[in-house]
Amino acid sequence: MSYAANLTGNQHLAIANTRDKTTINLVSSSFGQQQSQSSSFTTGIWQAPPQLYQIGTNFVLKLNGERGISHILIQANGISNIAPPALGNAIEIELQKTNDSAIDSSNMKSKPMELMKPIEPMKPMQPMKMGNMSMDINSMSMQMGNMSLNMNDTKTSTSTKLFCDQCGQEARPNARFCSSCGHQLDN
Ligand SMILES: [Zn+2]
Repeated sequence: MSYAANLTGNQHLAIANTRDKTTINLVSSSFGQQQSQSSSFTTGIWQAPPQLYQIGTNFVLKLNGERGISHILIQANGISNIAPPALGNAIEIELQKTNDSAIDSSNMKSKPMELMKPIEPMKPMQPMKMGNMSMDINSMSMQMGNMSLNMNDTKTSTSTKLFCDQCGQEARPNARFCSSCGHQLDN
């Protein structure tokens, strides 16, 4: 977080809170000359926005940090921590919140939109296989589990299997007797 204010007498004040420190920077410009001074105070992270008061000809900054409230006397010849002053006749000076993440946010804005990836050309149909179901469009054949369908081959080969009606054993084609129990088969 950072704040700034213009004080009387061509003085510009900037206050920034980084980690546990508050840095106060005072820039005075007069007769084309610029003087700046800065001081850091260990205040902790601000619990409330800083407040700036003018008391007579002096400026006092009130910081409400993790480590408590501190008062900083701001003068052209020095910035110092002082005991809490009487703020009865003090005039509060508005501090402008300055965006200390301006660089980051402008980077975000200037970042060009990610270009759309060109659509890949359609690939020729690949044989599909899902679980025990497979389909091949090119040969027009489909297989689902034990059932198979081939549209190129119109012959439906329903193999007639023979089973022994005595014991249920599958019999070899054209066998006359059951290989298991010797029962005579019909064919
Ligand atoms: Zn049998």
